[in-house]
This record gives sequence, C-alpha cells and structure tokens, in this order.
Amino acid sequence: MDMGQVGALPHGGCCRTALSAEDKAGRDLFVRWCRDAGCEIAFDVVGNIFARRPGRDPARASVATGSHLDTQPHGGKFDGIYGVLAGLEVVRALNDAGVETEAPIDVVVWTNEEGVRFGPPLAGSSAFAGVTGVELVHAAVTLDGTTVRQDLETTGYLGSERPGDRKFDCFVEAHIEQGPILEAEKKSIGVVTRVQGLRWLRVTVTGMDGHAGTTPMNRRRDALLAAAEMVLAINRIARETDEWARLTNGRFIVEPNGGATIPGRVVFICDLRHPNTAALESLDQRMQAAMRGIAETGGVGIEIERLMDKPPVTFDAELVDAIRRSAQQLGYSCIDMLSGAGHDAMNVARVAPAGMIFVPCKDGLSHNEAESAEPEHLAAGAQTLLQTLLERAGRSKLP
Ligand SMILES: [Zn+2]
Repeated sequence: MDMGQVGALPHGGCCRTALSAEDKAGRDLFVRWCRDAGCEIAFDVVGNIFARRPGRDPARASVATGSHLDTQPHGGKFDGIYGVLAGLEVVRALNDAGVETEAPIDVVVWTNEEGVRFGPPLAGSSAFAGVTGVELVHAAVTLDGTTVRQDLETTGYLGSERPGDRKFDCFVEAHIEQGPILEAEKKSIGVVTRVQGLRWLRVTVTGMDGHAGTTPMNRRRDALLAAAEMVLAINRIARETDEWARLTNGRFIVEPNGGATIPGRVVFICDLRHPNTAALESLDQRMQAAMRGIAETGGVGIEIERLMDKPPVTFDAELVDAIRRSAQQLGYSCIDMLSGAGHDAMNVARVAPAGMIFVPCKDGLSHNEAESAEPEHLAAGAQTLLQTLLERAGRSKLP
C-alpha cells in the first residue's frame, strides 16, 4: 500500500511507467527498504536492480526472485509489484527468524517490463538473458523524447554490471494471476508450468488518399476498408482454431485520419498467442495468407513485419515440483496453470531454471486501477516463495 502511494492515481491505481520520475521514486523506496533489511544493492547497465541478502557461501550462485515495479499508464498496485515485495518479505522473514542460508538470495527489479514509455517490453530481463542487446535498450527513445541511456543516467540507475554476468541457481517470480481461473476454482496458489508463446505482427496497408465526395466507390483504394476486412478474417481464423488461440488488434493507426478523406494508409498490430509452437506458426501463416488475399482483391499494398517472437516456455520441472511441494506442505490449495501473459521469468528461463507462483486477483482484473488481491492470498504466495527459495538456498542455521 505504501508503494501504491508512489505515482498514485485517483481511482486506486498507479502510473509508474519505466524510468519516469515516478518509477525512480518507486525504485528509491524499494532500495531504501532493502538497505534497511541489510541487503547489498547493485544495478546493471540496463538498470535492473539486485538486492542481495548474503549467504554463508559467497561463491554459490544466487537463489533469485523478483518481478517489476513499473506499471501500465492506468496500472494497479499489484501487477509486478507483488513479486518484488514478496521477495523483500522473504528477506525480512529470514532476518526475523535469524536464518542464514548457504546461497545468497537476490531480489530483482527488472527494468521496463510493461514497455509503455519505451520498447521493447520485458527489456531488462531480455538484456539479462541475452535476447536483446544492451545497445538496443540504451538507444530506445522514450515517449518524452529522451533515450533510455539518458534516463538511466538522470535517475541514477545506470550500473556497471553487464546483464547476465550474475549467475542464478534459479529464479522464482511471484505474480498475481491477471486472469479469473484461481478465483473461480477457489485455489490460493497457481503453480505455473508453462507460458504461452507470443508474436507481434505489424501490418501496413497502403491504398490511396482521395476526396470523400468526388471519388466514386468503385475507384477507391481504401486502406481502412481492406484493413477492417483483414481484422474480421483473422479473428475468424483465431476463433475457429482452438480454445487456446488468442488474437488482439489493439492498435490501429489511420492516415491521414481526416473525416473527408479516403484513408490512404493503415498500420495495425496483431498480438498473437498460443501455448504450442507449431500451432502458433500455423496461425501466423494462415493469417498472413488471408490478409495478403484481401489486399490483392482490394487493390491495396500490404507489408507484414514480425516485431516480436517469444516462443512458448516450459518451466524447469524440478523447480516447478519444488513450488508445488512447498504449497502443498503449507496446506494451500493449488493447481497447475498456463500463463496467458508474458513475464520476465520467461526470459530468465533461457539462462537459469525458472518458475512462477500465481495468486488470485479480484475478478481476474489487471492493467486496471481496480486491480486487487486478498491479503491471505498474497501471504500464501509469499510463504510458498519463502519455502521454495529456502529449499534451493539451503539453511545453515536453524532458528
Ligand atoms: Zn507483470
């Protein structure tokens, strides 16, 4: 709730887009809390924050947890923030109990998970996993016209550590579910086994600007008309594929966007998701073929670019077992789940065993100011996280 005051919005939500003044204030607060809890703080060159609770054996790879503190423009108090603060709570609980672990524990804040103020989303964890180059992240231009490198300097979060130099024994991310399943099934814990794959296509349809009053209907090359037909056609393909396919056209740019001019150019984004790589590829191909067919019939040009391709991720079986076992030993009801959303853990899974713990959120609502979660569920997730991390880190002294 204290973190929720930073960048607070009128309806209970938060706006802390990555590396904004509000995000800096949230980061500063987190760092202060971690220092108070005895953690050593480090940043890497893309601003990822690592708060380390030292272990008895400094040579051991760290047992890591965390998530993100940045939010959507109308974000909630819990998306990302819960995972970071659950990690801090693990540190505080170990301090309170006087437990020393063998391996160090790192609580991580990944930079720019949401990708609102600049792209790409999941930037910090992508750089850490070597999926995106540091130079690319630094050169990204924010909505305020600054570069990310400039913002890292002004906020004071430009570190010297190279992303990925730090080795993790494992990474466990706690997160609100952002969907309705746990609430409907009346379960406290979701043990995430897989994250579905995600692709972004940018489609540019080119027709010809023209006068709305003087151009006969049969002489038009209306880019919006063709794009609208494409959206209907590809949504039909997605619906007819299976229950897992997801397609969203959430961004549409119409040019010149004048009421009396036939639209000459339209750019839109296809956000395409499926848990199975072959099915995702097949969806992608069928949609592209349908759109090209419509462009040809409509006499408009079409260009399709793939902006992002995140393959489906299967989390580490041993770590997933450890999470499930922890939840069960603590007496929490749990189910295995697929994550519909992308998370930093899917990047980290490329370089270390990774897993996720989901907790229910009210009405499955997220990316919304009304986002909410019950204290008992948040506590259950943090307790499961503690037990899992403790098993991996090894305790050398009983409380
Ligand atoms: Zn998130």
